[in-house]
Order: sequence, then C-alpha cells, then structure tokens
Amino acid sequence: MADSDKQQLLRHLPKVDALLRAPELSAAQQRLGQKTMTRLAREAIGKARRQALEQGVAPEAEAVIAAVRTAADALLGQRARRVINATGVILHTNLGRAPLSPAAVEALAASAGGYTSVELDLERGRRGARGAFAEAALAQLSGAEDALVVNNCAAAVLLALSAVARGKKVVVSRGEQVEIGGSFRVPEVLDRSGADMIEVGTTNRTRTADYARALDQHPGEVAALLRVHPSNFRQIGFTERPPLDELAALARARDVVLIQDLGGGALVDLSPLGLDEPMVQTGVSAGAHLVCFSCDKLLGGPQGGAIVGDHELVNRVRRDPLARALRLGRLPLVALEATMEHYLAGDRDAVPTMFALHRPVAEVKARVEGWAELLRAQGIAVSTAETAGRAGGGTLPESPVPSYALVFDGDVETMAHALRNGAPPVLPRIHDGRLYIDGRTVMPDEDEALLKRLRDV
Ligand SMILES: *Cc1c(COP(=O)(O)O)cnc(C)c1O
Repeated sequence: MADSDKQQLLRHLPKVDALLRAPELSAAQQRLGQKTMTRLAREAIGKARRQALEQGVAPEAEAVIAAVRTAADALLGQRARRVINATGVILHTNLGRAPLSPAAVEALAASAGGYTSVELDLERGRRGARGAFAEAALAQLSGAEDALVVNNCAAAVLLALSAVARGKKVVVSRGEQVEIGGSFRVPEVLDRSGADMIEVGTTNRTRTADYARALDQHPGEVAALLRVHPSNFRQIGFTERPPLDELAALARARDVVLIQDLGGGALVDLSPLGLDEPMVQTGVSAGAHLVCFSCDKLLGGPQGGAIVGDHELVNRVRRDPLARALRLGRLPLVALEATMEHYLAGDRDAVPTMFALHRPVAEVKARVEGWAELLRAQGIAVSTAETAGRAGGGTLPESPVPSYALVFDGDVETMAHALRNGAPPVLPRIHDGRLYIDGRTVMPDEDEALLKRLRDV
C-alpha cells in the first residue's frame, strides 16, 4: 500500500478525545477515570490501526467504541463480587471459603469505616496486645495454654517452623509430604522456613519407630517433628501412621517439638454427620506442642490462621521476626472475634459454615421444592433431585454431604455462563450434562435474588 493510501485509511480512525466523549463510555469513565480510559482507548485504536493496515478497511468508530467498552467491562469484571454459591461445596476456595455470620458482618461494618482498638487497651489507655480476645477464645476452646492468630494457615505453619526449627532439622513422614491447593507444598514451605527436612517412612506406611530412628541418627540436630493432615487427599488400603499421642510422647521424651498442621480447624465434632475430620481439641489433648489451622475452613471465620499450644512455644513464635509480616489484618480480626463469640456462647448454628453442614437434608429439600414450585408456576421447566454436596476447603474430599438441588436440562453451558454473568452472579454445578442449583450452600437471604436470576436466564 502506498504511504498516501495508508494515511487516507488511517485518517478515518477515531481519535482518543473523540472516543472518550462517546456517551456509551461515560459510565465506565466515571468509574475508572480518565487515565485508565485513555489507556484502553489507545489500545483499542492501536488494534484498529493494525486491522486497517492488514485488511485495507478501517473499522467503524462504533466498533472501536464497543471495543473500549468491552475492555472496560472486562477490567471492572475482575473485581471480587458477592456471588450466590449454588455449587453445594460449602467451603469453596475460589469463592472465598466461609461466609460470615450476621454478627460478624455487623462487627465489620461497625469497624471498617472508622478506627478500631486493635492494639489499644482502652481500660488503661495503653498499648494492648493485638488479637488478644480471639487468642484467649481460641486457647480456651481448644484447651491449649496459648494461641496466636496470623494471616492464614500457610503463614501459621511457616511461622511455627521458622520460630522453632530454623537452621535445624524437622522430621516428616513421606506419606505427609502433600500439596494442598496450588502453592502450599509441605517440602517447599519447610525449606522456606529455613529448616532441613528429614524424610522418614514410606509413602503409605510410617511408624513411630521411623521417627525415633531419625532422632537417633541426628542427635541434637532435630528441632521438631511435623505432622500434616493430608486434607484433600486420602490414602486407602495398606496404610499406617502413628497415633498422634504416640508421636507426642516420643517428641516430649526426646525434647523436640511436635508441630501439627491440621488445616481444617474444626472446633465441633463432625463425626455425628459421618465426617471424619480431626478436631483442634484432639490435637491439643493428644499432646502436640503447636497446632496450626485455618480460620476460614471448618472454623467458619474470615481468612486467618491460628497456632495454639504450649505457652512458652507460642510466645517464641509470637516474637519471631516473621510474625509481623504474617499478622492478621484489622478487618479479619474483627470478624474472627465475632465468630469466636458464637463458639464461646455455644451457638454452633450461628456460624454459617456449621449451619450449612448441619442443616437436615429434609429442610434443604423443602426449600428446594418450594423454589421449584414457584418456578413451575411461572412456566419454567425444572426438576429436583437428591445430590451430594461437599464440605470443601481442602477438607473431607471423600465424604459427601447429602443435599438437594434444582435440576435443569438443555444447553447447560450457555445457561451456566449466563448465570455467572449477571447481578448477582450465580455459580451452579454441572454434572453429566445437567445443571444443578444446590440448596445447601445458598445463603438464607438469597432466595429471592436466586429465583430472579433463574427466571431471567
Ligand atoms: C488448607 C490447609 C493449609 C493452608 O491453609 P490456608 O489457610 O489456606 O493458608 C495448610 N495445611 C493444611 C493441612 C491445610 O488443609
């Protein structure tokens, strides 16, 4: 193409100023501001330019405006938004895990827009201990001498290992060198803590004697034994691992620290539900020196991590230089304290995760049948079915939580896409070519919004 033809062609492309005056972009501009919109407009014009040179025709101004609008919507769409979880997975890591109780939300709302006495002793007007209430509650509920709250369970494990075993050795079973969700891999966390790993046992079987032999072979060099709950991974068949109390007795006899990475943080016995998940209290009473767990898995609080255990050791962890970098933020702390109050008061079902897990399937069924009736009355074809939900959040992978769901047939991928891309977004589950709306994970105040979205789609 001759240069003059090129210029002729490119002259038809809109300029940035003209683009940004388009009424179709004014809403996006209000939210994202002039600088961001100018960048998006330049990118869209650059693309239109390349296209013009390749194809010999310049795109219409409307097409370029639409491209800017799409880019702005895509950027805004990346914001984390409230969604309706109809997947049946109670602790969904991609959906922020545990929903908070109304009391925790109220505490957050009351604190968030102002100042909060996170590190102030109001009674004495002096500097106070951060997280003191949450820590006192966790210690009491778990039966431990002391507790420390941090950013999450990964932080708790890293910090405990760093404080106890940096520059020394830690003994881990080969059956517990697991990866929990993408980036948490036991050997890598151990390495980053500055401790050296001694592997013992085999993939499927490890005995107390294996740990004892490692201690014999490295006299004075081992600081800790690490016990890891395999969480979202199960071994079946010819397997063995020592009872926790046996390992604790060995650790205490040999003057090393037993650190338990528990993950889930259950404070309630879930065995009546047929769920085989170890409790925090059990780790403490079996004699683990330090027990690490998440606050937003089965404990049902905000993102956070806790370390409970022997006072002297928890204090050593508290004073580790890493502790400051891994501390819990002000807002999760406020929400965690409200959650701990539910446990202190013995009000298990006030914690939404506990409520969702314990809700009898008959109640879930009645709710879902009610939805189905309302939808059918409006001419919408829907059936219902028993389903198997999940606790999720890296816990109990094999244990279904009996549930009940609306079932839709047809072009379910298109339907799911439409459900996700509306306000509020709805996350269904697709299984065997059918679309399920599971009643167990839809929050008590979401019925109306859910039914509206279902009708619209
Ligand atoms: C989930 C889990 C973790 C990581 O917890 P986060 O709170 O997500 O950091 C670590 N260890 C175990 C055993 C877990 O189950």
